[in-house]
Amino acid sequence: MNDTELLRMMGYRLKDAYFDKAVLPIGSTEYHGEHLPFGTDTLVADSLAAAVAGRVEGMLKLPVMPYGMSHHYSSFPMVLTIDTETLIRVLKQLMESLNAHGVKRLLVINGHDGNIPALEAATREYRTEHPEFKVAALEAWWVTAGDLLPPGTFEAWGGLGHAGEGETSMMLRVAPELVNMSKAKGHIPDLPAHVQVKWLFREITPYGVTGDPTKATSEKGILMWDTLVNHLVDFLEEMDRNGWEVDKE
Ligand SMILES: [Zn+2]
Repeated sequence: MNDTELLRMMGYRLKDAYFDKAVLPIGSTEYHGEHLPFGTDTLVADSLAAAVAGRVEGMLKLPVMPYGMSHHYSSFPMVLTIDTETLIRVLKQLMESLNAHGVKRLLVINGHDGNIPALEAATREYRTEHPEFKVAALEAWWVTAGDLLPPGTFEAWGGLGHAGEGETSMMLRVAPELVNMSKAKGHIPDLPAHVQVKWLFREITPYGVTGDPTKATSEKGILMWDTLVNHLVDFLEEMDRNGWEVDKE
């Protein structure tokens, strides 16, 4: 687990520091097949957040949230889940705390699909009640990375999947010592297009893995990681220039 800036900081250092914004990584603790660690979603979100905070002035990196909404994965071993309602409350209370301490700009980096509904609900509702508090989110880095990278970067299923080609590649960049490629095995489910079937994870893979992790490489991981970090840094610099107002002339 990465050290986190706030946890290592002493009070006198915080007092002297200037933070006008924060980055909150949120993840999950759930089975990612036999080749990746349970903390995969947490480790990836934390790594991206640390890199971004290190490059953007006035940005405080918050400790990573290691639990997420993982009910749909819960038939696999040692999935630790909280429910969406709980996550909404946690996110709102963290925003409330930051707001009370004068940090009124937040970027959330999410590492896990099951967290997206709570993230959407909490941020929309909190912002409506507190328009002065600005928040942005990278909700699905695995989709964004695919959008930003040249077509053909991934070999199987557009790189998608739980512990699939993209996520396994990311872990080869973030924590290669925790990846065991000799155990990599996945399944690409045949899902209908355009309409989302609300599957339980065990219904679409026997391995706890979707996509094809055997196609993962550290080169793809480095490309994904660098591209996402650069994109977020550019995004934040642009937001700062515009005072976190959108659609500004
Ligand atoms: Zn994952």
